[in-house]
Amino acid sequence: MQGFLARVIKPATHNRCARCQVVGHHPSLELCMAKAPQEIQQIVQVFRGKEDPLSNMFVCPKGCEWGDDSTVYNSSEQEFQHEKVVALDKPEEAFELLEMNNTFQIKASELVPESLTAWVDREEGVLYQACYIKFAACSHACEALLNSRSELVEGMNDLKWGSGMDPQCTLEYLPDYWLGQNRMGKILKEIQSELLEAR
Ligand SMILES: [Zn+2]
Ligand SMILES: [Zn+2]
Repeated sequence: MQGFLARVIKPATHNRCARCQVVGHHPSLELCMAKAPQEIQQIVQVFRGKEDPLSNMFVCPKGCEWGDDSTVYNSSEQEFQHEKVVALDKPEEAFELLEMNNTFQIKASELVPESLTAWVDREEGVLYQACYIKFAACSHACEALLNSRSELVEGMNDLKWGSGMDPQCTLEYLPDYWLGQNRMGKILKEIQSELLEAR
């Protein structure tokens, strides 16, 4: 709950729907053109959190790990963050990340700022690789991806990787009206078709 908010209503935007921008209704109403009908909701799979095999935060309960002699990962988030500090030549931070077992701790650590241009150009490719290796290494996560619905999206407040909305809101609105770019969901769909082809 936000508590009580006083809002100044300007005539031009009065009653403009925050979701579809059409004047005259509230986004919660059925007539909103951004609302997803039931048949669309049924093909969307919203993932989120460390229990969800599609999430980068997922750590397999069966203990699946991957990597090589010097680096062992147990989540794609760990590999992604580790590749980032290595790419930016931060050996101490890289070592620190490999010591961490809790994916939320890894994400929260953000040892290097997200926005560095040297990294931004590469991050999508690195994340793709980190996820591909995870799905290749963990059969549980692989099955979850191969059996997933046709539209995948991470329901979270992240405008780049996720829907930019909470899981419930994500499901209620058409993909075109999600606030975020859903780049994580798109990466997963690409990996899914690559894994299917490899079968
Ligand atoms: Zn609307
Ligand atoms: Zn596993």
